[in-house]
Amino acid sequence: MAYVIPAPPQAVVPVAGSTDLFPVHRNYCVGRNYEEHAKEMGFSGREPPFFFAKPADALLPVADGTGVMPYPPATSNLHHEIELVVAIGRRARNVAAADAPACIWGYAVGLDMTRRDLQGEAKKLGRPWEVGKAFDFSAPISALVPIARTGEIKSGRIWLKVNGQTRQDSDVSKLIWSVNEIIEHLSRFFELAPGDLVFTGTPEGVAAVVEGDVLEGGVDGVGTLRVRIGPPEVD
Ligand code: MN
Repeated sequence: MAYVIPAPPQAVVPVAGSTDLFPVHRNYCVGRNYEEHAKEMGFSGREPPFFFAKPADALLPVADGTGVMPYPPATSNLHHEIELVVAIGRRARNVAAADAPACIWGYAVGLDMTRRDLQGEAKKLGRPWEVGKAFDFSAPISALVPIARTGEIKSGRIWLKVNGQTRQDSDVSKLIWSVNEIIEHLSRFFELAPGDLVFTGTPEGVAAVVEGDVLEGGVDGVGTLRVRIGPPEVD
C-alpha cells in the first residue's frame, strides 16, 4: 500500500529551549473571551463560550527571531489578536474544570490573525467564519513551554505592540472563561486529544496591520512572539 499523492507534512510547534517538536492535531479557538474585547465588537461580554477552529497547517511557528506572515489574499482589513495558547497533552472528554490542569501539556503565545472584513460579512449573513479566520498563515505561534516549567498560567500581562506602539495590553486573569473552564466546555463538544491547541481569546485593542508592520507580543511567564507582515504570496 502506498499513498497516491505525497502525504501532507505533520504540523508541529517547536518546544522552547530544546530540539523537541510538539505534533499538532487540532487547533481550536475561543471567541470573545475578554469583556472589553467583546464590548469593542458590539457584545455585552457575558455569554457562554463559543468555539471555532483553524486548520493545523494554518499555524506559522516562530521559535525565535522574526517570522514572516505573507499578507493574505481577499482582504483589506487584516486584524491582530494576541492570545494565550494552551497545548493539550492527553485525551479528555467531559473534563471538570478542576481536573483540567492535568490535560495541559504547555503554553505558547499566539496570534489569531483575522480578515475582519470577511468575518464581518460572514456574521451579517449568518455564514461560517472560515474565510475570515482559517486562512493560510493565520495562526503565528511561539515555541511551546511545558507546564512543568511555567506552572499553571492563571494571570500575567498579555500584550501586543505594532511597530513599537502598544495596541493590546491586558492580563490573562481577565479571561471571561478561564483556561480550565474552556477545557471543561470544549471537552463536552469534542474529545480533546494530545496535540490539540486552544487559542483562548484576545483582549481589547484589535486593529488592522499592513505589509511591513512588525508585531511583537507576549504573555508574562510564557514568552514572546515576533512577526513581520510580508508581501502577498504570488504564484
Ligand atoms: Mn481570537
